[in-house]
Amino acid sequence: MSAPMPAAAMLTPVFSLRGVGKTYTMGEIEVPALRDVDLDLYAGEFVVLLGASGSGKSTLLNILGGLDTPTSGSLHYLDEDLTHAGDATLTAFRREHVGFVFQFYNLIPSLTALENVQLVTEISPDPMDAAEALRLVGLEERMHHFPAQLSGGEQQRVAIARAIAKQPDMLLCDEPTGALDFRTGKLVLEVLDRINRELGTTTAVITHNAAIAGMAHRVIHISSGRITRIETNEQRVPPGEIQW
Ligand code: ADP
Ligand code: MG
Repeated sequence: MSAPMPAAAMLTPVFSLRGVGKTYTMGEIEVPALRDVDLDLYAGEFVVLLGASGSGKSTLLNILGGLDTPTSGSLHYLDEDLTHAGDATLTAFRREHVGFVFQFYNLIPSLTALENVQLVTEISPDPMDAAEALRLVGLEERMHHFPAQLSGGEQQRVAIARAIAKQPDMLLCDEPTGALDFRTGKLVLEVLDRINRELGTTTAVITHNAAIAGMAHRVIHISSGRITRIETNEQRVPPGEIQW
């Protein structure tokens, strides 16, 4: 069993949301996706966002990552007020601070694993070596393979290598195991856990699979656009021991 986060590290919020709401307007219809969300994310923690389909998880993650903006409330990243940030500010914020992993890997089929990661390292201010990123996800032997020569789980690990290669402060993952079977999904979770431990990257993982919640420092429960409960796991379950 792993130790809980050191108390001092938990004192530094990286991200603060206060009263955040998001309503999508579709013609005459208003769809409230988030309502009055207060949330602090702390440096180096691993959180799982857990909720049913349509509960607002992706909307929340997209707001955290600067892919979307709230319609009410406020949003701070460290000292930076992102509440009314425009596109240019959000693009710079994402480029500097955020790595994304989605359910589908979006690799470029004509490039090798290494070249897919290098696309990012070439445009980042402070990247790690692309081969080192692939080593961290356990793919050093496969780096000259093309996506079609890799399994789904391996392709997702390339996508994770690509996300971490720019050394982001935050790694945001939207259903990263959603398209994977149980066994390869666990390998992907083990990689996310290792990156959080070894690089200290603040990590948020969306899932509707309650079994995954055990590996987090904190579990944020979302229902109908609201945070209904936040739990702290006294004992974290190593991802290799998760059953679903
Ligand atoms: P989850 O990720 O938990 O499945 P989402 O954040 O994707 O939930 O969606 C929350 C709610 O907002 C749902 O009712 C969804 O239909 C609605 N929604 C999400 N994105 C949009 C959009 N771009 N336009 C209109 N409604 C949306
Ligand atoms: Mg979603």
